[in-house]
Amino acid sequence: MKMKAAVVTPDSNGNVDIIEREIRPLENGEALVEVEYCGVCHTDLHVAAGDFGKKPGRVLGHEGIGIVKETAAGVTKLKPGDRVSIAWLFKSCGSCEYCVTGRETLCRSVVNAGYTADGAMATYCIVDADYAVKVPDGLDPAQASSITCAGVTTYKAIKVSGIQPGQWIAMYGAGGLGNLAVQYAKKVFGAHVIAIDINDDKLALAKEVGADLTVNPAKEDAAQFIREKTGGAHAAVVTAVSRAAFNSAVDAVRAGGRVVAVGLPSETMDLSIPRIVLDGIEVVGSLVGTRKDLEEAFQFGAEGIVVPVVQTRTLDETNDIFQEMRDGKIQGRMVIDMKKSCGCH
Ligand code: NAD
Ligand code: ZN
Ligand code: ZN
Repeated sequence: MKMKAAVVTPDSNGNVDIIEREIRPLENGEALVEVEYCGVCHTDLHVAAGDFGKKPGRVLGHEGIGIVKETAAGVTKLKPGDRVSIAWLFKSCGSCEYCVTGRETLCRSVVNAGYTADGAMATYCIVDADYAVKVPDGLDPAQASSITCAGVTTYKAIKVSGIQPGQWIAMYGAGGLGNLAVQYAKKVFGAHVIAIDINDDKLALAKEVGADLTVNPAKEDAAQFIREKTGGAHAAVVTAVSRAAFNSAVDAVRAGGRVVAVGLPSETMDLSIPRIVLDGIEVVGSLVGTRKDLEEAFQFGAEGIVVPVVQTRTLDETNDIFQEMRDGKIQGRMVIDMKKSCGCH
């Protein structure tokens, strides 16, 4: 049986080729998933461009949602007909110090969908059954796809920020991740939210979904604005793909504040040692979320508390979506609808 897939070009030039490929037989513990939807994350752009090392021929995609078609021997957790996710955390070893202490995304032998394993930008995907998280009833599958990376990553980053109800959190970047970051912070954690983005349309959408304040750093000093309005944020989450945003976040938090780094520009940030020491600032990275985090993030979607802003497209449009993302033209998330593109339904 064949599948249609978006794979990184031979020269890893930041684009994909749409190809047909034979689906390999299942191995012990695996399941075959017919993909329904796959969101396009900015990380797919980084992988396609070789930002973390060239990956020619790799099937991209880690915001996948689909239906289990077949399970191999040894699979007890899933059965045909189940709706499951295909997330960046594709598989980990399950027994190292990270895996057994609730930090499985840091496993040194982790496998990531759409990076070190073939991902979900395809009509079919083979998953490790233990790592495919079930999608709760009542959650729209296109919206679930956006929660599979953007949602769980920001939900987890807000946990890591330590924000408490009524405190101020600054969300640098109001794109695919940032829009959901605003919603989780406001509606789940009960925080006051400031959204920061260089595009006014992103800020308008952030306001619609719950941001209390917005500021555009292309027009004014965001850190100064935040300090004036709030006395300094208690925490910041940075999803913007820009070192300027990381630097501004350090300036925007109050003494004892925590900056959670999520965005992945291939750059370094400035850290003033006196600022870190004298004001007790913490800077910490946060990488997607565990299977448990994803289960929780899904549930808030199923309950309608968090509503991902999604628009569906076809697999053949992947390179167009990439360009729109580079140009900052996307509101919320573009989600590939596999049924629209495979031509067999
Ligand atoms: P996106 O392109 O949808 O959103 C990025 C947003 O940042 C855009 O709205 C853009 O206008 C805004 N921006 C750019 N420069 C800015 C600046 N100087 N100040 C404020 N905003 C600015 O991308 P996305 O899908 O939300 O992903 C964002 C980043 O997060 C990417 O680098 C991606 O690889 C990374 N990511 C990390 C994790 C993780 O686990 N840490 C998970 C998913 C994605
Ligand atoms: Zn992602
Ligand atoms: Zn491990």
